[in-house]
Amino acid sequence: MIEIPPGAYARPGTSLEFKTGSWRVERPVHQHRAAPCHAVCPAGEDAQAYLALVELGDLRGAWETIVAANPLPAITGRVCHHPCESACNRRHYDEEITIHGVERFLGDEAIRKDWRYPVAAPASDAPRMAVVGAGPAGLAAAYHLLRGGCHVTLIEALAVAGGTMRTAIPHYRLPPDVLDQELDRLLALPGIAFQPQTRLGRDVSLGELQSDFEGLFLGPGQRKGREWGADFAVPGDLQTGLQLLETWVAEGTIPHEARSVAIAGGGNTAVDLARVLRRQGVAQVHLITHQRIPAPDVPADDAMRATYRDVSQAVEEGVIIHEHRGVRRLILRGERVVGLELVHMKKLPGADGRLRRVAFDGTETVLHVDQVIPAIGQQVDPLGFEALVERGRLKVAPWWGSLQGHPGIFSGGDARGDHGTVSEAVGDGRRAALAMLRQHQGQTLEPSSAPEGIGYDELNVHYFDPAPAAREPVLPPEQRLGNEEIEGGLDARAVRHEAHRCLACGNCLACDNCWTLCPDQSVLKTRAIADDGSHYVFDYDYCKGCGICATECPTGYIRMVPD
Ligand SMILES: Cc1cc2nc3c(=O)[nH]c(=O)nc-3n(C[C@H](O)[C@H](O)[C@H](O)COP(=O)(O)OP(=O)(O)OC[C@H]3O[C@@H](n4cnc5c(N)ncnc54)[C@H](O)[C@@H]3O)c2cc1C
Ligand code: SF4
Ligand code: SF4
Repeated sequence: MIEIPPGAYARPGTSLEFKTGSWRVERPVHQHRAAPCHAVCPAGEDAQAYLALVELGDLRGAWETIVAANPLPAITGRVCHHPCESACNRRHYDEEITIHGVERFLGDEAIRKDWRYPVAAPASDAPRMAVVGAGPAGLAAAYHLLRGGCHVTLIEALAVAGGTMRTAIPHYRLPPDVLDQELDRLLALPGIAFQPQTRLGRDVSLGELQSDFEGLFLGPGQRKGREWGADFAVPGDLQTGLQLLETWVAEGTIPHEARSVAIAGGGNTAVDLARVLRRQGVAQVHLITHQRIPAPDVPADDAMRATYRDVSQAVEEGVIIHEHRGVRRLILRGERVVGLELVHMKKLPGADGRLRRVAFDGTETVLHVDQVIPAIGQQVDPLGFEALVERGRLKVAPWWGSLQGHPGIFSGGDARGDHGTVSEAVGDGRRAALAMLRQHQGQTLEPSSAPEGIGYDELNVHYFDPAPAAREPVLPPEQRLGNEEIEGGLDARAVRHEAHRCLACGNCLACDNCWTLCPDQSVLKTRAIADDGSHYVFDYDYCKGCGICATECPTGYIRMVPD
């Protein structure tokens, strides 16, 4: 019997004699490319990879893929501003994939089914690392150090873990039971020694941490309010936005008498406090911001720092936003505020070309309010590590988070001053942990950056059917009265639908297009997964380099390169 090699279509002695591969000037190669959702995720999640597993029905595998990067998916699936969706290629075709909804579903499923993090306990002689602060940055650092085989001591000033996620993010966005259940499972991992009510600078010194441990991560966040006053006047009853919001989150109510309140600021604290005061029955809540409401055509440096979702929900709930305005003067009766003088503000280039915010004289208007509350941001509370703090922040190298001028100390999250979200804090903690592990092994930290995502114009979308996105239910504004969660989750069916809609950008779909359409039958299908993770290999003896496979590949996984 004649042996026919795999992929052969004729017997030796016939056309197989003609190795048409010699005609080629270009050859196709498989090239795994990062999907844009992966490239931009601040936490480092590979959404394409877990959507593919959801599509195969492997929910646990999908969750394990997420927690290889981010141990807090039930949380980030709720609070993340999901830049992955703004970058999703499918938005150029019909609508972006509801990635955060899938992430949240998998996080909740893991809680429901009590899936354990796939992390082994460290060996007794493993390195010992210290992490300060149990916010998302510190938690992620501790988790990834444990994944890297280290013992971790996690110290936290407060009695409970969670950082700002627990003390300030309102329950209508992040219910406390979700926070508790995700964090309890994480902190129960053998190898993490959690020490609450232990404050760096009070209960333990920086020197002790440096001498007792082989690496140190600082994730103290920004817990100290900045000083505020307008034209040197400070009202006698002044409380900061964060203080009031923390009272609401802890007690579910804020004592107040005002009928009309002005909040100065455009970040999370300002917007959430405005929404909380509306829930408390304050008739008029004004938000005064130097910036503009975030929108696709508003440059990032001129947009409010709170997310578009939260700002638009605040507007739906009746918050009045005064964009490009600043408080020029407080109008006081005795020590009490009765009004504000507002002035138009805008960013203009100065003589050195740098943009600076400028107040326009002659544009002053008066706003009558009973109370003014500053919510202009916080800074690092430096007590105990003053030498490391520079202008209210810990200055770190952008990717690995090493503290400039202090080798062996790493930091990330809000403390670095240029990050202000949970997913950024998670990503900072993860990268810093990897850096600490590398440094411990004597490796150098090469400069690195996020991968570049494959563009929409590199896909062939003719093989996909239009399908509307599944969206989570949102509570109508009139029903948002207290702490009830505003956004619901996707159900299992909607999650599968989203996974099916994913274009698998830059990755093999196993769709068989290359195998069926190659005119020379030079694409061989493999039973087992090939070395590059696909199910196909090219038979370069016969591939003429026509490029049909690359053109017809829906996901941009096949590229033609010079031979
Ligand atoms: C009102 C509000 C709403 C927000 N909403 C969102 C949102 O919807 N989505 C989003 O992504 N982000 C949101 N954020 C931002 C987000 O909460 C932060 O970016 C994130 O929590 C920062 O994480 P972190 O770990 O750097 O710091 P933190 O979460 O602040 O944690 C720092 C921890 O360190 C501890 N600590 C500080 N100093 C010491 C010390 N000396 N010794 C021991 N422990 C110490 C603190 O007690 C704290 O637990 C919001 C923030 C606020 C204020
Ligand atoms: S953490 Fe945020 S950006 Fe990353 S996948 Fe989840 S929702 Fe998207
Ligand atoms: S289509 Fe899928 S792989 Fe492509 S960017 Fe969107 S979620 Fe990511």
